[in-house]
Parts: sequence; C-alpha cells; structure tokens
Amino acid sequence: IAPEKNDFIRSIIREDLASGKHAKLVTRFPPEPNGYLHIGHVKSICLNFGVAQEFGGVCNLRFDDTNPTAEKQDFVDSIKSDVEWLGFHWDGEVRYASGYFEQLHAWAVQLIEQGDAYVDLQTLEQIRENRGGFGKAGVNSPWREASVADNLERFSDMKAGKYADGEAVLRAKIDMTHPNMNMRDPIIYRVMHAHHHQTGDEWCIYPMYDFAHPLSDAFEGITHSLCTLEFEDHRPFYDWVVEKVGFANPPHQYEFSRLNLDHTLTSKRKLKRLVEMGVVSGWDDPRMPTVAGMRRRGYTAEGLRDFCERIGITKADGVVDFRQLEFSVRASLENTAARAMAVLRPLKVTISNFEEAVAKADTLKKDTVKAELDGDVLWLSQPKHPSLDLGERRIPFTKTIYIDESDFEVNPPAGYKRLSPENNEIRLRNSYVLKVDECKTDETGKVIELIASIDEKTLGNNPEGRKVKGVIHWVSASHGVDAIVRLYQHLLLEDDEIDHNAELHEKDRLDADTDADTLWIKQHLNPNSLTTYHAVVEPSLREAAAGERFQFERESYFVADALEHNSELPVFNQIVSLKDSFKP
Ligand code: ATP
Ligand code: MG
Ligand code: MG
Repeated sequence: IAPEKNDFIRSIIREDLASGKHAKLVTRFPPEPNGYLHIGHVKSICLNFGVAQEFGGVCNLRFDDTNPTAEKQDFVDSIKSDVEWLGFHWDGEVRYASGYFEQLHAWAVQLIEQGDAYVDLQTLEQIRENRGGFGKAGVNSPWREASVADNLERFSDMKAGKYADGEAVLRAKIDMTHPNMNMRDPIIYRVMHAHHHQTGDEWCIYPMYDFAHPLSDAFEGITHSLCTLEFEDHRPFYDWVVEKVGFANPPHQYEFSRLNLDHTLTSKRKLKRLVEMGVVSGWDDPRMPTVAGMRRRGYTAEGLRDFCERIGITKADGVVDFRQLEFSVRASLENTAARAMAVLRPLKVTISNFEEAVAKADTLKKDTVKAELDGDVLWLSQPKHPSLDLGERRIPFTKTIYIDESDFEVNPPAGYKRLSPENNEIRLRNSYVLKVDECKTDETGKVIELIASIDEKTLGNNPEGRKVKGVIHWVSASHGVDAIVRLYQHLLLEDDEIDHNAELHEKDRLDADTDADTLWIKQHLNPNSLTTYHAVVEPSLREAAAGERFQFERESYFVADALEHNSELPVFNQIVSLKDSFKP
C-alpha cells in the first residue's frame, strides 16, 4: 500500500480551499513541445493532475510554445498521447501559450504604456555585458529612459518586421542593481523571424518564457502554479509581471524538487543527443527514460503512478534509486501478467524413452495436470496465471525439447541446484521429472546435447522414494517458436558522474555544447545495455498481442514489442527482473 498522499503542496492547497482563498483548484502541466516527455515530467504530471483529481479541481494541459525553432507538432502529439496513456485527462481543449500571443502582445503594450517596459536596441552582447553579475551591479541601457511614445513605435516596428533577429528586444523596466539577476530588466520579447508550428508566419516577435508563463497561468485562472526548484529565483519576476498587468486574484508559484534518477538522464537535450548519435533506435527505444520508451519497454502506467506516489513531493534534492522505479513496475505486473515458458539459450535434450513414457500419460492421476496425447505430441494444459482467471494455454511436450544452457553445468559451483552430472534429476516445469543419462560435447568441450529419460510416473506426481530438487523451464524443440528476446541493462554506467544539477538551467543554455554532450555520452555509455537472444518460446506466444505482458517463468517480465512483434517472429522486450532484494 502506497503511503498516504500528504506533502507541503497538498497542505497549502487544503488551506487555500478551506480559507476560501480559492473556490476551486486549477493547476496546469506546461510542457514545452521540444522533445518527448521523460520520467521527470511524469512526476510533474502525477502531481498536477493528481492534486486536481483529489481536490475536485481541474488541470489544464498547456504547451509552453514560445520558442518556435525548437518545437514541432510531432512533439505536441506525442506529449498528448503520453499524458493520456498515463491515465490523466486535461480540462477542456488543449491550450497553447501561442494561443495567447495576441493577448500577451496587448499586455506588453500595456507595460510600455505604464512605463514598465522599454525597447532596447543594444546588441545582445552588450545586454549580456551590462547585466553585471553576482556582486556586480548592472549598467542601465542607454535606451532605458526613452519616452513611452518612442517605445510604442519601436515595439510596433519590431512586430512589423523592421528589425532583424537580435537587433531589438523588449525589456521589463525593474532594477539593474537587483540582487536577483532575473530582475535586472529581463527580456520579455525578442525578434525571431521563424515559422511557428501553431501560428505559422503570423509573428516575428515572440514572448520569452518568463513573460508568457505567469501571464498564461493568470489568464487561465490557475490557482497553484507548480514547478521545479530551479524556477524559485524566477518567482519574483512571476509575481512582478502578474501584478503589473493587474490580476486581482493572481496565481502563486510553488516549487518542488525535480526527480533525478540514478543511471538516467532527465534532460531533453541530452536524450535528443542519444537519438541523434544513433546509440538508441529512437525516442521510444525501450532503454530510453522517455514515456514512449518506458511504454515500449512494457512499464505500466499504474507502476509509474505508484512510483511517483512513493517518492512523494518535497523540496529536498536527491537522486532516487532506479530500483525503486522497478519495484513499482514489478508490483503492477505480479498479479496481471500471464505466465509462459521461453528458453533464451537453447540446449537440446533428447528424451530416449519419450514414446513409452507418454503412452501411459492417460492412465495417470490428472488433477494437477491435464494431458492429451496426439500423435507424437503430449499436449499439456496449464492455466495462464496461477491465481487469476486468464484461461488456459496448451503446451506441447515432445521427444526433443530445449532447456536453458545455464540449467546444466558440467562443473557446478557450490550450492548449484540445477542439473549437473552429480545432480542429474530435475522437474520439468508443468511436466515430468527428467534424468540426464548422457552429455554430448563438441571438440571444444562445449555441451551440445543431453540424452535424458523421464520418469513416466511423475506427470503431476512426486517421484517415488526420492526427492527431486529444482524445477526448470523448457520448450518443445519441434513445436517451439523462434523468437527475438531482448534483455536490457542501464543505458549509462557510473551514475555518480551524472551531474544532475548541470541539467537545471537548460532554459538558459541556448548555447549548449553539443560536442561536450557527445563526448560525455560516449564516455558513460554502457556497451552491454542491450543483449539480443535468439530464443525459442512456447507456441501459445504466437498469439500474443503487441504490447501484451508476460512473465517468462524463471526469467523476467516481458512485453511483446509494440512495433516489431508478429506471430511469424515474436519479439519480446524485458520489462523488469522477477525479483530484487531492494525494499522501498
Ligand atoms: P528538460 O529540462 O528535459 O528540457 P524542461 O524542464 O525544459 O525539461 P518542460 O517541458 O519545460 O521541460 O517542463 C514541463 C514541466 O515538467 C515543468 O513544469 C517542469 O518543471 C517539469 N519537469 C521537467 N523535468 C522534471 C523533473 N526531472 N522532475 C520533475 N518535474 C520536471
Ligand atoms: Mg525546456
Ligand atoms: Mg529543464
């Protein structure tokens, strides 16, 4: 049972509703459509949509699309489908900051008229220099004291396309000596002759995020604007701008700590690099921490929501153990995934007494095993799940079968409970007790085939006069189905090397160093993050639907790949291991 949802944000909301400060809670999830959503965004989604649900409010989905060169319709579409897949519903229509461009422009004009904004014609270089730094006051722009009329005319010229990119900006007029750099006359509009995925070529000036965001919140009647801690020092400007425009009951911004996960990048920019470098197959590669990747990996929406609930909401920065995420995903699969048998590293076993033994299968007590002989196949029926009513599956048992190579050791290590020359008897899962009589090797000494016999009395019965330790899975060699089975490890090694803080001020890092990112990724990439097996699986798996999840007994949880799986050549991705010593 997940811990009771209670955190500082929920306390604030509870108080604000109780005191009547707000009649109804309104939150928003405000992604920029410049990439795919990742696990960090899931935390924000679960919080914003979660509190809306819990407190009888609503949550808007708003695209913060003020940076047209980085944004695309493709990202808008994927974000919408990811939010829906996670099980959340936004209020009414999807919203766009770009849908408010007209209104935002009018508010910018209002600020100029009030003497709260001015057009600066310094170069961007000069603006940067004159901003000063920590402990160093900024210098007023020579354009700062221009008249309202001149500013209105220049802003109108900016809008009319009379300036080239970078030649003019609109700035809020606050204080060039303010200790908070975000208050030193921040830029609120810039010239950018760029096509926008929503507004086309209508605009050549675009508002800055810090201007558009608070005003979009206020316009939508957002009550609690929840964001991550790196926006804490943007809050003074947030409050300044909604006050100057004159909202009566303005939204308030609250910050919580972002999710950092070990072995995991939660920066869209670096995830994009991974895709561009071709080290993954795309944004939806099952190793990617994107919602699209995790979905293809077979993670459940329920597991992701449970994870977010367990990590909770605080102001404390930290790095969450990846196994915590796996714990939640595993818990969501335990009572839902059908069982099946798949042999990843096939070792051929020929059962010398097969015909004589299975001929007597009909005469055996069959309350635990249903068996039906048809020619040279003994069809065994088993429930798809030990406790849930998911129906039955038919498993063919034949003269040649495959077991996993790792279930037979010529020189077993201490404590080995599977097959070896000394311990040569084992239970075949759902079937007979098998005894190895002979082991065939190739010229290098590698075991290539086992010759074995089965105890005809052990179908659904314990062997007489002895105990058999161990159960192994198997698949018919003649009726099994070839399949691609993919096992995963972390995409990145050495998690302590990931500087999660370096991701924080990405919005400011328009000049991100691609070469440095590439080098970093190369140095930290796990060369073994993907292992592909040519496996043999039980034939019932031909009928698996793309996206269907299974527990391959004694292996892992797997999902039929959403894109590549088909009944001719099934393809399965490992979701998560069956067990872990980790306890949340
Ligand atoms: P990135 O840094 O990967 O580009 P971003 O912060 O720019 O992500 P946005 O699309 O602007 O992404 O963010 C949408 C919302 O998701 C914001 O409110 C942001 O605070 C939140 N968010 C982004 N990353 C995380 C994270 N790691 N943990 C929690 N919330 C996050
Ligand atoms: Mg961003
Ligand atoms: Mg960011």
